[in-house]
Amino acid sequence: MFVTTHAAIGALVGVVVPSPTAAFSLGFLSHFLVDRIPHGDEHMLDGYKSGDKIKRAVAYVSIDAVIAMYVTLLILSNAPPHLHAAMKWGLIGSILPDLLVGVYEVTKIGPFFRRFTAYHHKNHHHWIGKYRKGKDIPFKWGVAYQVVAALVLVKIAVIG
Ligand SMILES: [Zn+2]
Repeated sequence: MFVTTHAAIGALVGVVVPSPTAAFSLGFLSHFLVDRIPHGDEHMLDGYKSGDKIKRAVAYVSIDAVIAMYVTLLILSNAPPHLHAAMKWGLIGSILPDLLVGVYEVTKIGPFFRRFTAYHHKNHHHWIGKYRKGKDIPFKWGVAYQVVAALVLVKIAVIG
């Protein structure tokens, strides 16, 4: 799932749950729920690892990272100050799982990161395996509906 989508959801969690600790925890959990929705990137990491589609994966992640930064600033600069802490922590919790996976993919360190990454990928595949016989939706459909979902979520998250 786009980091942008996770970030917008995390910020919204902070609006609904104005405690930073609770927002962080729920943001973290939201990542796993949202990741289960088939979104077309099931094979992107494999394509990157095998060297098959490195450019596509790097481009996708880079564009997403820049948009996520912009969206984060947009959301927080429009939010009332008393919600900033919870929104920030919700947002951090919601993108943290992908950061931990990234740390593992780059460093291959430790049993914790290895197990976490294995769980993350298993969760990512869960509904695809259960409801779609292991077949993800086409990448372009995933991108298309995530763009729409991200626009709607950002529109909702830009409050104030
Ligand atoms: Zn993820």
